[in-house]
Amino acid sequence: MKGFQRPHGTYVHAFVGSLNETRPLLHDGTTFEVDTMDEERKLVNIGKRICSYGRWQFNGIPCAHACAAIYTDQLIPEGFVDHCYRKEAYLAAYSPVIHAMPGVKDWP
Ligand SMILES: [Zn+2]
Repeated sequence: MKGFQRPHGTYVHAFVGSLNETRPLLHDGTTFEVDTMDEERKLVNIGKRICSYGRWQFNGIPCAHACAAIYTDQLIPEGFVDHCYRKEAYLAAYSPVIHAMPGVKDWP
């Protein structure tokens, strides 16, 4: 498969629009090579959530290369965002009661 369906009306459109081409590379169906307009090539594995650029592994949010690969597979990038950014994780992190604390002058 050559090229990918560019998404319209989403915030990732600008990122993905700057990419030149994405196409499936390897046999397992989850690895893609993404060519950029500045003639670089990034490898993306959407199954392992890895991009050779490294940003996806670093912050847990699919980078432009990953988004291009995900769209090529006709999926949505939001489904590949790390669990720590989801509402359930936020609610679990802040579910314990935070006790009130006096000001600095009242500290021992
Ligand atoms: Zn990337």
